[in-house]
Amino acid sequence: MSVFEEIRQRLDIVEVLSEYLHLKRVGNSYSTNCPFHPDDTPSFYVSPSRQIWKCFGCGKGGDVIKFVSEYEGISYLEAAKLLAQRYNLDVDFGDEEKGERFHSALGKIAFFYGEELKNSSIAKEFLLKVRKLPAEVVQDFNLGYAGDGFKSVEFARREGIFDELLELKHFFLTPYGRYRDFFHQRITIPVRNILSKIVGFGGRSLSEEQKPKYKNSLSSEIFQKDKTLFGIERAKNYLRDRGFLIIVEGFFDVIRLHSVGLGNSVAPLGTALTRHHARVISKLTSKVVLLFDGDTAGRRAVLNASKELLKFPVEVWVALLPSGQDPDSFVLQNGIKALRNLLSSAKPLKNLLIESVKRASPDRREAYLRLFKEIVSEISDPISRELWIKEFRDQTGLNPFGKTKTVAVRKIEPPPELSKWEVDFLLGLLYLSPDLNLEEFKLSSKARELAEKILKGENKDRLPPWLFQIDTLGLEKRFSLAVEMLSVEKPLLEETFKKLFHLEKKIKEGKASSEEFNRFRKLLSALEEGEKRLYKWYKEKVQTL
Ligand SMILES: [Zn+2]
Repeated sequence: MSVFEEIRQRLDIVEVLSEYLHLKRVGNSYSTNCPFHPDDTPSFYVSPSRQIWKCFGCGKGGDVIKFVSEYEGISYLEAAKLLAQRYNLDVDFGDEEKGERFHSALGKIAFFYGEELKNSSIAKEFLLKVRKLPAEVVQDFNLGYAGDGFKSVEFARREGIFDELLELKHFFLTPYGRYRDFFHQRITIPVRNILSKIVGFGGRSLSEEQKPKYKNSLSSEIFQKDKTLFGIERAKNYLRDRGFLIIVEGFFDVIRLHSVGLGNSVAPLGTALTRHHARVISKLTSKVVLLFDGDTAGRRAVLNASKELLKFPVEVWVALLPSGQDPDSFVLQNGIKALRNLLSSAKPLKNLLIESVKRASPDRREAYLRLFKEIVSEISDPISRELWIKEFRDQTGLNPFGKTKTVAVRKIEPPPELSKWEVDFLLGLLYLSPDLNLEEFKLSSKARELAEKILKGENKDRLPPWLFQIDTLGLEKRFSLAVEMLSVEKPLLEETFKKLFHLEKKIKEGKASSEEFNRFRKLLSALEEGEKRLYKWYKEKVQTL
């Protein structure tokens, strides 16, 4: 159990919030005017049974720690500590605190590097002239310069972060008995985790003599090279619009792509793509484009990365650069338009491999065939594997796989208007036959229509075929998550509904003041679509009582 869970369990939300607000009991919950927005009607609700709060005016909500953090204007961790102290809870913040201390020490040293960069003409020249990066991009990525590697140690001592950085192996002891910065005389590139916290650095040498050209922070409690993707904290925000992730090979490729508007790109830290990377990626997107050098090494990297990615439900596309180029140099030489063209000509890995077998000379064909089989054997999803094999057979007339079952050869996608949660919810209704009331869920009209059909026990041929062909691996877990994501905060809503109903009645009877009329409109417009439908259902229920 995390320290936060422990605090949530040991405190009562009503008791804690009563220290801040004048809570009034209404039915099963409590309500008051919201402290976070100008609120003349009590739209702030607290549910003792679920130990959460929610404001239906401004939309804020969360657990007891979140409330204190919002109210006091402090971080979640600080709020948790404040509560532990105030209520004499003997809980251990050890891990969380240590992690925070590390992140903050790295943040401070990154700031120092930024200042050093301003004072170093070689470092500035390298970034602005040699790498041709715009100054605002240098700043945006917090690029810096570690200088001689002694001043940063002094800085760390002054700032009281020396011990943390030493523990992170950020400093080392020279044979002369002095501590020195691991990144001395290097350009520093902060590497962040998905939550945007700095976990380590990449360092680029400034001269040919300084080897290796790139190095990364050494492994520590908060940094593992083979689990970290550079740029992930930015890319995750772009994936919603773009729908695919670009994987490149280096720090400066990510920085360049980001600077020209392709923020949906990440790079491993000078290693091959690992299974850890692939798992992280598969949680963020279902389609990746590998944008690699078109030389032999680049092609090999494409195959190795694909073997890891195909173990997860991820579609792999490939765009190869002219031999000897990386995305950074390509954009500098040919411009962003050329890169966009290259990206839009990306092809699915499957098609590329089939093409290579078709085009191979008879003596090379066997080798390409073997490669195709090798890649196919890495695909974890049986439907997608069948699809690869079928397409291969159709296009080449060859059948290196012998007889295979011909189940589900057509991969069927759920309709795009359904969210991932809705898809899992519908699958759960179909396969797990749970006992639940649809009115308690926020569903789009399409999802709702299907859900009703499923619950009515509609015949299989009257339901869309994708429901029966989609992957149901781990459905129990997916379903329970979907239920949580889609469920309406009913006990809290009921109070709003009562108020709405009361006002609506008054309005219909012509007894409402203009102020009440406005309040009604405001309350109603604050409801989400699903909540509005629920209100309709609530009215019907009340009227038939
Ligand atoms: Zn509010």
